[in-house]
Amino acid sequence: MKRKELDIKSLSPMMQRYYETKEQYEDAILMYRLGDFYEMFFEDAETASRVLELTLTGRDCGSGRRAPMCGVPYHAVDGYIARLVSKGYKVAICEQLSNEPEPGKSIVERAVVRVITAGTVIDDGMVKAENNYLVSIYSADNMIGYAWADITTGEFNLYEQKTDDPVNALENFFAAVSPSEIIANDAACRYNDQIPSIRSGKYPKMTAYYDWAFKYKNAYDSLAHALRVSTLDAFEVTDKKCAVSAAGALNEYLHETQKRALPQFLKLAYFHDENYMMLDATARRNLELVETSRDRKKNGSLLWVIDKTETGMGLRKLRQWLDYPSLEEKVLKDRLDALSFFTEHPDDLALIKSTLSEMWDMERLAGRCGYGNINPSDMLQLAKTWILCPDIKKKLMGAEAPLLKKICQMLPSKTPLAEELLKALNPEHCGAEYKHGGFIKDGYDKELDECRKAKETSGDLLRSLEATEKELTGIKNLHIAYNKVFGYYIEVSKSNIGLVPFRYHRKQTLVNGERYITEELKTLEERLLHAEERALEIEMELFEKFKELLAACVTEMLKTANGLAILDAILSLASVALENNYVRPTIGKAVKHIMIENGRHPVVEKIVGQRNYIPNDALLNEECKTMIITGPNMAGKSTYMRQVALITLLAHIGSYVPATKAEIALTDRIFTRIGASDDLAYSQSTFMVEMVEVATILHNATKNSLLILDEIGRGTSTYDGLGIAWSVMEYIAKKIGSMTLFATHYHELTDLESRLPGVKNYRILANEIEGKVVFLHKIARGEASKSFGAEVASLAGVPDPVVKRAKGITKILEETSKYRDTNQIMVQGEVDSKDVVQGDLFENVPDEKYLKLEEELKSIDMNSITPMQAFSILSDLVSRVKE
Ligand code: ATP
Repeated sequence: MKRKELDIKSLSPMMQRYYETKEQYEDAILMYRLGDFYEMFFEDAETASRVLELTLTGRDCGSGRRAPMCGVPYHAVDGYIARLVSKGYKVAICEQLSNEPEPGKSIVERAVVRVITAGTVIDDGMVKAENNYLVSIYSADNMIGYAWADITTGEFNLYEQKTDDPVNALENFFAAVSPSEIIANDAACRYNDQIPSIRSGKYPKMTAYYDWAFKYKNAYDSLAHALRVSTLDAFEVTDKKCAVSAAGALNEYLHETQKRALPQFLKLAYFHDENYMMLDATARRNLELVETSRDRKKNGSLLWVIDKTETGMGLRKLRQWLDYPSLEEKVLKDRLDALSFFTEHPDDLALIKSTLSEMWDMERLAGRCGYGNINPSDMLQLAKTWILCPDIKKKLMGAEAPLLKKICQMLPSKTPLAEELLKALNPEHCGAEYKHGGFIKDGYDKELDECRKAKETSGDLLRSLEATEKELTGIKNLHIAYNKVFGYYIEVSKSNIGLVPFRYHRKQTLVNGERYITEELKTLEERLLHAEERALEIEMELFEKFKELLAACVTEMLKTANGLAILDAILSLASVALENNYVRPTIGKAVKHIMIENGRHPVVEKIVGQRNYIPNDALLNEECKTMIITGPNMAGKSTYMRQVALITLLAHIGSYVPATKAEIALTDRIFTRIGASDDLAYSQSTFMVEMVEVATILHNATKNSLLILDEIGRGTSTYDGLGIAWSVMEYIAKKIGSMTLFATHYHELTDLESRLPGVKNYRILANEIEGKVVFLHKIARGEASKSFGAEVASLAGVPDPVVKRAKGITKILEETSKYRDTNQIMVQGEVDSKDVVQGDLFENVPDEKYLKLEEELKSIDMNSITPMQAFSILSDLVSRVKE
């Protein structure tokens, strides 16, 4: 039965009230409190019974009709809400505001006290360990305003951007913040169907929010009101109208769902993009920063390697650094200095790490204190964490590194409130059932102790009264019991009713017996119930007092938590550096190149083992801005290029890097064009995806960018592809001047070395032993002679006849190919020709004779020999080589 089909007037009073409430929360599942249950009706009940696997029943809703209904017990509601929210539903919680109906009313007053959505959950167990961002998007003309907040930690950012390609801009933004929920104005919602990560279901759809909330004036006022200020000047956002529109709407949405004033700890901050290395969605995906691109798992990503954090707050901090690598030299130097302290003092590292491992997520707990949404168990976790801070502070005292000094200032030297909480709270009774009391320790409060004592002695008295009554009446199976409706009673079975004395007053008749009360039992009952009631009252008063005391410390606790988070992230990077032999990179404005000695791929080396990983150098500078890398399939071209990108990126988060030496220029963006796959979410072909990526790079890269190009032009015909790859390389080398690594199987492109400035050829070596390819994974100057795709196909198990036939066809094509004459391609005239080092792909490891020859050549001083001597050396060499 559908709710809308019913006439509200025909419903029972309770159902009429439900109906009215539901009308205000059409887009949410309404959980309606009825006694000890939260009930759902009509379509909500059908949805919830399906999603939560609950039995669908019915309830008379008036005029003899039954509304579909299902419900969950109040004490287990959190788990059910979590499941609904994780499936993308909004849940509105409607509570009973009193136990009894008001005078003259037939039903108790109820109201929605909170709406829970994926972006506004604060409860433990419902919210993910990483930042949980609620995002607001405002799109108008060619501007986009962004606001994103994590209400569990108080972070609230805003930003705006001019763009001709809003779909791409939004895709990149979502990749950076991984939103849990997105609200937007109508104009932005129109892009839902075009944004790949939304189409593929990776991120939720943008849902339209009221247009008035995005209007600048309303948004400005709403923000100012929430921040308790009359002007936003201090936040430097007054001229950022689109950002303010987005932030104001987000604030309004929070207000609407949380149903209370937003806590003061929300920190509004404008995001200054010039301070961060920009990574678009493609680069994040290709470099597998936080998840693998194939199965979206953390295992196998860069984060998997560098995350050795002990706390949720540390993990979030590390993730933020990785999401937004820094371009601020001071920030990076500070992080590196702090890291160096710990790599030089591994004992301190181990000690502090072990203390952190005993800590809880203080940032989230402090956040919950701010919302007043905390229980005794949270208080206990908070106290246990807080009390460890002075110890860490002491250990950091001697450290010279500025960041460690700063952290030291963020940590308290005394924690009286934590001490008090630990004195008061009984860890064994702080669980979810705390509302029944018991969470305050014996001996903490005198009156509470007295009440408990009274309760205990009354219990003994009850037991002795039962024994006495048995004796006096001679009724052996007489017993004293309790129920909520009648309180304490003496129960006597039917067969013994004749033995009941006159002083017994009948209370209730049962099928098999009677229940009675006596004066003595009544007095005892009063004493017991009073003691119980008062004990609970005292505990609740203490609980409220602690809540208030904690709420007053939220800002201080968040400062401490931030200090711990930074420390945890630094310790994580330091442990990774020590464990994997990373080295401190030099990074800053003075460095104008990327120089890596014995670099390793941080993830691949973890998988194949450090011993099996072959390190490689890299040098990108004015003389060599572009490396054209050739080599057989499977040789390690992609690994090498990603390794350079990841080392560069790690340096920009302030981490040590897998190498023996690294000097890294500040790099404004890393672009990648890797692999080829149809993007069904994009509705675009392989080649189209490739070209979109190439276009993005050509439009946005600067001379300070690092480009990783793994094949260009492979998705079209050979000539077409080669033409595109060639012209793209020319454009990058001549017009943009970015540092570029370009892997290709178009061997014709290696001719560019002699024709374009700053282009150098490199090849990945392989060996051939008994007709089989052995990959050396070593990079060297020069170009590879061919790709050996057929050999790799054979290794992969492609049947022999196919491989043989492929080789034959390749031979014919190579012999008849016309485009080897690359001179004709270069129409723009000669460029300085450089020496091209030609090498054979299946190069054997140099033998002794060769090394001797090399030694002799190196020892010749060209300035001091005569032409005659030169001639004699040359003829000697020629004859030795001929031998
Ligand atoms: P293709 O041209 O087919 O794309 P490729 O040259 O890009 O191949 P990669 O995918 O980079 O080859 O490498 C293939 C495998 O070789 C990697 O998965 C890794 O296991 C191994 N490998 C690559 N580089 C190294 C290295 N330096 N040391 C050890 N193993 C390596």
